Amino acid sequence: MSTPETAKKIWHNGKLIEWDDARIHVMSHVIHYASALFEGIRCYSTPKGPAIFRLREHIQRLHDSCHIYRMDPPYSVDELIKACVEVVTVNNFKECYLRPVVFRGYGSFGVNPLPNPIETYIASWLWGKYLGQEAIEQGVDVCTASWARMTPNSLPATAKSAANYMNSQLIKMEAISNGFVEGIALDAQGNISEGSGENLFMVRDGVLFTPPLASAILAGITRDSVMHIARNLGYEVREGVIPRASIYIADEIFFTGTAAEITPIRTVDRIKIGSGERGPVTAALQKEFFAITSGEKEAPGNWLTFTSE
Ligand code: PMP
Repeated sequence: MSTPETAKKIWHNGKLIEWDDARIHVMSHVIHYASALFEGIRCYSTPKGPAIFRLREHIQRLHDSCHIYRMDPPYSVDELIKACVEVVTVNNFKECYLRPVVFRGYGSFGVNPLPNPIETYIASWLWGKYLGQEAIEQGVDVCTASWARMTPNSLPATAKSAANYMNSQLIKMEAISNGFVEGIALDAQGNISEGSGENLFMVRDGVLFTPPLASAILAGITRDSVMHIARNLGYEVREGVIPRASIYIADEIFFTGTAAEITPIRTVDRIKIGSGERGPVTAALQKEFFAITSGEKEAPGNWLTFTSE
């Protein structure tokens, strides 16, 4: 069943298994109650071999997501970092996308998750530009979702849980059925939250703005990287509540995410944003981001984990 894009081996509870053998029972807790926490990580091709982007931060976020749901991941951050490197190496990838997932498996059938075993898998595959090849240069057309993001006291957006992606699916399906590439969700107060799988930034008069964690967003690692890069380039970056109307009158807006990287947005609800093309600030941030991820430019801190070192 494996396609050319998928890996040969998947890491499961400390062992490498064949892609087709990574199966679970239909009565596993996760199938019925969405009890899974996961990560999405990119490994880039560089002159020094494959390099995983901000691996430690992703694995730490996975541990944090599990902690919120009272799950003790059976593997430490360091063990999972080693396992991700192993998955890239054993599958001979130059570049790929990594998907670690920790979930409640097969054991008891009720809502109470605690009696079920905790399973850990790390899958990988080749994944191109998430919102389309052209999106990075031309930008995308998006809408405001009629579905709001979860409230902080219902499902925490801070945890990257499978359950949160039922909300994301509603946002995404509505957008696609109406002819848009993606939807921007508002939080319960009606302020800008995030896309179904991306954080959002806006630029106005040379200043960058992005919603705070309290606006029901995932603490994106690309978001953090872009804030760091922008400040290094001399831009002011402010985290604060963004009322819906502000984005229509922004000079530029763009999405950030591991899959979407930095994707310009050219219209929202068919209203043109700025010039209706990728703006200069978005272009400058993309240039710096891709220079770092391609290994062309020295990465700050430990942003790249080279798998052949
Ligand atoms: N928000 C949501 C809902 C997401 O699914 C993602 C992708 N993980 C992001 C934001 C961006 O996070 P990151 O930059 O860490 O990929």
